[in-house]
Amino acid sequence: MLTNKTALVTGSTSGIGLGIAKALARQGANIVLNGFGDVEGPKAEIAALGVKVAYHGADMSHVDQIEDMIQFAQAQWGSLDILVNNAGIQHVSKIENFPTERWDAIIAINLSSAFHTTRCALPAMQAANWGRIINVASVHGLVGSAEKSAYVAAKHGVVGLTKVTALENATTGVTCNAICPGWVLTPLVQKQVDAKAAALGLSNEDAKKVLLGEKEPSMQFTTPDELGELAVFFCSPAGNNVRGVAWNMDGGWVAQ
Ligand code: NAD
Repeated sequence: MLTNKTALVTGSTSGIGLGIAKALARQGANIVLNGFGDVEGPKAEIAALGVKVAYHGADMSHVDQIEDMIQFAQAQWGSLDILVNNAGIQHVSKIENFPTERWDAIIAINLSSAFHTTRCALPAMQAANWGRIINVASVHGLVGSAEKSAYVAAKHGVVGLTKVTALENATTGVTCNAICPGWVLTPLVQKQVDAKAAALGLSNEDAKKVLLGEKEPSMQFTTPDELGELAVFFCSPAGNNVRGVAWNMDGGWVAQ
């Protein structure tokens, strides 16, 4: 379905981004990976799906590196058709103790980077009259949680940016939508499981149950593969008129 399309997924060396990259690759899209840590492993996983794969190491808190990455992605195989804004970080602390440097980093990486990738990628998508921009927000783009001020503010901002991007392109073949996961067991969340286990003197498994029990009625983690299939739907012909939604996949978190 996505043969000859190019997808750039930010923060795709790990977790949800890698899951989405693999789901798009299974549909035939060539993939530009981005993110820190091990690069060769994710590259090999994508290549094994029979598509082309490239990597750009832009730090999403640096505008010049983001601009370079978009140009790189456009130049790889002729066009950048699918942009998935996924890179993100977390810091958990009450507002009065929240390190200002962490606030700035979360706003830059979780919110401003999506503005910069989008503004750079849009003109060519508009010229081609086809494009898909998928913003990985969070349930925290829809509701708040204590001790996550920067993250919740950034993710609400991402949902707002999604709506404006969708509206400005509503009469074109370019759509923009947000995915709002609940708990997904990635390195980002394992750190919160570890903190809960340490604070409450619990095993890893019991800390996971406490974390899920606080917010997620299904008592199940959503998986990167499930989120990848939602991204595939947004890219499918059936997604042509899905514009500006913030679609939660959260085991009932925001239904409460
Ligand atoms: P993760 O830590 O597994 O992956 C984050 C990715 O972003 C990694 O590839 C990392 O290298 C990359 N990254 C971090 N800082 C970067 C930077 N400055 N520049 C470029 N890349 C950078 O986390 P994840 O859980 O897969 O999170 C992915 C996205 O999903 C984030 O936006 C996160 O907020 C969102 N999300 C996660 C959950 C969850 O429960 N895990 C829930 C809702 C939303």
